[in-house]
Amino acid sequence: MVWILVLLGLMTGALLNLLADSLPTAYRVRRPRCAYCGCDRRLVAWSAVSATLTNNHRCRHCGAPVSLRHLLVELVTGLLFAFCWLRTGASIRTVFDIVYSSAFVLIVVTDIEHRLIQHVITLPVIAVALVGAFLNPVFDSPNRALLGGAIGLGATFALYLLGGLFVRVMSRVRGQAISEVAFGFGDVVLNAFIGLIVGVPHIIFAMTIGFLCGGIAATILLLVRGLIQRRYKLFTAIPYGPFLIVGGAAMLYYGREFMSWYLRR
Ligand SMILES: [Zn+2]
Repeated sequence: MVWILVLLGLMTGALLNLLADSLPTAYRVRRPRCAYCGCDRRLVAWSAVSATLTNNHRCRHCGAPVSLRHLLVELVTGLLFAFCWLRTGASIRTVFDIVYSSAFVLIVVTDIEHRLIQHVITLPVIAVALVGAFLNPVFDSPNRALLGGAIGLGATFALYLLGGLFVRVMSRVRGQAISEVAFGFGDVVLNAFIGLIVGVPHIIFAMTIGFLCGGIAATILLLVRGLIQRRYKLFTAIPYGPFLIVGGAAMLYYGREFMSWYLRR
C-alpha cells in the first residue's frame, strides 16, 4: 500500500510541476514543455521521474535536460504521501494531510521561483480546509480550526499593514521609493490557510517556528551579503511563504506530539 501511495505522490508531483510552470505566468494550465526551447514534451517525459528512468530526460529538440526542480518536486511529493500514510493510515485525516502537503509543495515552489503565493492556489485549498474543519477527526470541534484560521489571518494581516507603514515611512525618510514589500498579501492568505488546518493553539506555535526560521535565514543572508559581497541592503525581502510552511508542516504532522511535550515541561 505504501508503494501505491508513493506512486500516487509521484504522479501528483508531476501535476504540481505542471501547475508551478503554468499558473504564475499564464493563469491557465499548459501542456508540459521544455523550459528552454518551448517544444512539447513526450508523454513519457511528462513526469521527470519516468523521463529519467526511461532515459528520455533530454529534450528531443534542443537536448536540454529535465530540470532538477521537476525531479525534486516529484520525489518529495511521493515521500510526503508515503509519510502521511505511514503516520495515520487509512483515515480521513490522511486524505486531508495529503491535500495540504501537495499545496505546501506547490506554494514553496512558486514563492521561491516567482515570489508569488497565488490566490488561485490558496483559495481552493482554503475551501478544502473549511470542509476539513468539520470532517477532519483531528478537531474535536470545528471552532478550533475556524479560530485558528482567524488568528492566522488576523496576526499576519496586522503584520502586513505594519510592513506597509514601515516601507512608506522609510521611503519618505530616505527620499526614494522602496518597491520591495517585506510581507505580501499572499503570505496573509497562506497563514489563514495554515491556521485553518492546524487550529488553535497550534497556529501560535506554527507562526513562532515560521518567524524564528525566517528571521534566522534573513539574518544569515544579511551577514553573508554584508561580509562577502560588501553590499549592505537593509530591505532584502526574502520569501516568507516557505518559512510559514515549515512551521505549519511541523504542527500539521507533529502538532499533537508537540503539545503533549510542551504541556509536560
Ligand atoms: Zn528543448
